[in-house]
Amino acid sequence: MARPRTPDVLCPHCQSDQVACVIYGNVECDAEWLEMIFSGLVTGGGCMIYSPMMRLFCNACKKLFGTDEESRQIANRLYRRARSTARRRLKRRRAEEEPSRETDDHLGASTPTKPGTRP
Ligand SMILES: [Zn+2]
Repeated sequence: MARPRTPDVLCPHCQSDQVACVIYGNVECDAEWLEMIFSGLVTGGGCMIYSPMMRLFCNACKKLFGTDEESRQIANRLYRRARSTARRRLKRRRAEEEPSRETDDHLGASTPTKPGTRP
């Protein structure tokens, strides 16, 4: 029952779906940001501003692309997904760091809220 990943966008150079959005400018390098980087959905573009601005980055072939409005929207989507994933992971990790001897994560102690699973 593996859910196939539906890629938002494919790299125009190598057709990979390992695409991240590029965040430009100074970024507060906190735990949430690091989680977002680790997720592979976001990468930091630093202060180099290209003209036109490249919104997307391929993790497979390491190329920047995406200068149009659609790419900007895709980048926003990837960013939001990365941020919510990062927050979920941080929350889980904090819960794991709590001194608890019970490991009943898989017994349904937590109620995951997945979009689209509600009747
Ligand atoms: Zn590529």
